[in-house]
Amino acid sequence: MQKNNSFDMLILGGSYAGLSAALALGRSLRQVLILDSGTPCNRQTPHSHNFLTQDGETPAAIAQKARTQVLQYPTIQFHSGTASWGKKTAEGFEIGTEAGETFSTQKLIVATGIRDLLPPIPGFADCWGISVIHCPYCHGYEFRNCPTAIMANGERAFHLASLVRNLTDTLTIFTSGRSEFSPEQRARLSAHGIEIIETPLSEIVHQNGSIRKVIFEDGREQALEAMYAAVPFEQSSPIPEMMGCELTDSGHLKTDLFQKTTVTGIFACGDGASMMRSVANAVATGSMAGAMTHKELIDAHF
Ligand SMILES: Cc1cc2nc3c(=O)[nH]c(=O)nc-3n(C[C@H](O)[C@H](O)[C@H](O)COP(=O)(O)OP(=O)(O)OC[C@H]3O[C@@H](n4cnc5c(N)ncnc54)[C@H](O)[C@@H]3O)c2cc1C
Repeated sequence: MQKNNSFDMLILGGSYAGLSAALALGRSLRQVLILDSGTPCNRQTPHSHNFLTQDGETPAAIAQKARTQVLQYPTIQFHSGTASWGKKTAEGFEIGTEAGETFSTQKLIVATGIRDLLPPIPGFADCWGISVIHCPYCHGYEFRNCPTAIMANGERAFHLASLVRNLTDTLTIFTSGRSEFSPEQRARLSAHGIEIIETPLSEIVHQNGSIRKVIFEDGREQALEAMYAAVPFEQSSPIPEMMGCELTDSGHLKTDLFQKTTVTGIFACGDGASMMRSVANAVATGSMAGAMTHKELIDAHF
């Protein structure tokens, strides 16, 4: 660890967004610490798709390759650990870990992502990222023409249905309660042969995460191979909020086009700061955050 544990930039979260920020900073000779707890949100998914040059790779292989490339820059350090607190100081910020370490930094980049709050339906967590999926661009192609469901309601379900119907003719929406579609939406769903089932699910029957069928609370069953689910989420780390960073109505860290949060000196990138949830977007916003933190230090001293 660098003398005094003091850095130009500290990056909280060392997955795709954090590593991308670090790459721009290593190439700018910045002293950087990446602090990472090792639990990216896509860790259970067998293959990651829709990121150019890495389509079909495992999530871990993409991250490992990124880490190897980033750590070739001698001013970058990667430290395994979980940040548990943060505070503003006269020089910048201080971050502490669960292990009791303290690091100081001039600029802070938050790349800690989001935590999905999975419903307690038996089988749901086992299938998450394998056959219970969040995004048609990431996993829809693999389930094209398969019996598919969407577990969501209202606008979100309608939007997903319009995308997923392009991939399969056999599509059902599970609203898990009274459906919230307008008469016009209901008519359009019906015109595309999309059935709506309001009865909540009681179980997802699967084999190693691959759905075989779902069982409803009234005992009915439906064979299925894939289910899209819009689940609620929370910020993986409460630290940015504790330090005063504002959230958007959707629960993401509020940032401008340069990934600046509402607190001077704190930048945010990746899933925690964007509704567009993809590796490509995490890398793009991370790269911007890296460049812009560097620019702030340049502007202060040049
Ligand atoms: C199941 C699933 C499958 C997906 N499949 C695809 C796909 O096929 N293609 C695609 O493009 N996208 C996919 N995505 C989306 C993609 O995984 C995310 O957009 C991407 O991982 C976001 O990167 P990130 O760096 O912002 O966050 P993450 O990858 O989630 O990483 C956040 C990092 O921060 C660390 N961290 C959190 N809190 C702390 C703390 N307090 N201290 C230190 N470290 C901390 C975590 O350990 C983690 O390493 C999928 C998402 C899910 C949930």
